Amino acid sequence: MTTETALFTVRRADSQLSPSLPPFGQFIGGAFVPSSSSETVDIVNPATEEVLTKVPAGTVEDVDAAVAAAVAAKDAWAATTPRDRAAVLLKIADIIEANRELFETLEAANTGKPAAVAEDDISSAVDTFRFSAGAARAYSTLGADDYAENHTSVIHREPVGVVGVITPWNYPLLMAAWKIAPVLGAGNTLVLKPSEQTPLTTLKLAELITGEVPAGVLNIVTGPGRVVGNRLSEHPDVDLVAITGSVSSGQKVAAAASGSVKRVHLELGGKAPVVVFADADLEAAAKGVRSAGFWNGGQECGAACRVLVHESVAEKFTELLVREISEITVGTPGAGDAEIGSMISKAHYERVLAALDDVRKDGLTIAVGGRAIEGPGYFIEPTVVTNVPAGAAITSNEIFGPVVSVETFSTDEEAVTRANETIYGLAASVWTRDSARSLTVPRKLDFGTVWVNSHLVIATEMPWGGFKGSGYGRDLSSYALDDFSRTKHVMYNRG
Ligand code: NAD
Repeated sequence: MTTETALFTVRRADSQLSPSLPPFGQFIGGAFVPSSSSETVDIVNPATEEVLTKVPAGTVEDVDAAVAAAVAAKDAWAATTPRDRAAVLLKIADIIEANRELFETLEAANTGKPAAVAEDDISSAVDTFRFSAGAARAYSTLGADDYAENHTSVIHREPVGVVGVITPWNYPLLMAAWKIAPVLGAGNTLVLKPSEQTPLTTLKLAELITGEVPAGVLNIVTGPGRVVGNRLSEHPDVDLVAITGSVSSGQKVAAAASGSVKRVHLELGGKAPVVVFADADLEAAAKGVRSAGFWNGGQECGAACRVLVHESVAEKFTELLVREISEITVGTPGAGDAEIGSMISKAHYERVLAALDDVRKDGLTIAVGGRAIEGPGYFIEPTVVTNVPAGAAITSNEIFGPVVSVETFSTDEEAVTRANETIYGLAASVWTRDSARSLTVPRKLDFGTVWVNSHLVIATEMPWGGFKGSGYGRDLSSYALDDFSRTKHVMYNRG
């Protein structure tokens, strides 16, 4: 069945997805157990607005029980060798891979994302576990040596202890994998709180790996951030808390964590500039923004959402971009070729539509899209906003939807200054065929990842994380193992 709008079509699958749901309960000490409260949270399919299931609205007592289980399991897990831990991580990767279709269907049903995005999420989660298994074994410290007379120094890398992990809704299993793999690989135990909107694949993972991971090493508590996330952040027995989420949630986590002076790992929002110079391959840049600005419906922290294009090629580039975006297909997850799906929730859909109302109030031009698409489901048209002056709200507010804005600049210096004029510092891209520019401009940009003639290509071996308001943790790569480890210096007197 299809529903026509003026330009965009929502393709709807003929049959509904029928995902395999996880057990009901909190996963604590190696088993699903009842929550201390009977309150629940509805889990909705945002592409159909149907309630898929319910999960417990966890409590402080649930977190305390999970932390106690993680504390009890801590010493034995820390004493395992990297080889033992790698074997567990490889097993988890194999289990996800063997159940790939189940995870893809469940993820798509819970998030409204197209099949291609769900497939990529699951493949990347598998790769994250495999990489961390290898990296944990290859990880070493400086060799022992003398730095004071008659004294030999040895550096040990130790686990931090119990890690609290708080994940967002945009890539539920993948963001869990980005934390679970290095946290366990480095020898820590953990308690993870998935987003209250999208806990299903994380719970399914717990169900399928039960028995493969020692009891208490990995615990999952569902529920609201202000209760479960806050308790994890303040808990005196949690040694480090890591959150992937918005800046305001990161600020709350860091504030709650300060009471016990625990370490904090923050992967927060972004507003990635895409700087298109006059010498760029404009077609490639427009195609790049189509894929990297609208991947996962633009609900992506590194989304290519803010174009800065040189004034001499702005008209040509905008024409190419509008053509690309007009071709995007919108649909429900089961509808084969859909390029973008729904927004994650009614509340988020309303937030994105309110941002589009502000765009109109600010007198900016909506060159394509800009409206809701008739439901059921929280669909919004892929949108390009032009005629955007420097400093407009859309240049700095993270919309987190299928909306890209286009500004112009005159000089290289202006491009760099304007690109850096944001509280965020997660990711950026530069599009140019000039080799000098390709070397100098990325060095001047204040972002944790800068692509040249590309955007949103992620390599598991390379670090991912932000500067400034985007936080200061590093996911992926061996830098994540560093972040979830502590170093200890032991000095031996040989005198
Ligand atoms: P969110 O901040 O609303 O929620 C993230 C998590 O934090 C959820 O599990 C939520 O329950 C929890 N939380 C909320 N309030 C809390 C509190 N007071 N204490 C502890 N935990 C709390 O974010 P979201 O809407 O789920 O995800 C979208 C945001 O995540 C965007 O800003 C996006 O840019 C960001 N994000 C960043 C990265 C990255 O790698 N930097 C990756 C994905 C998403």
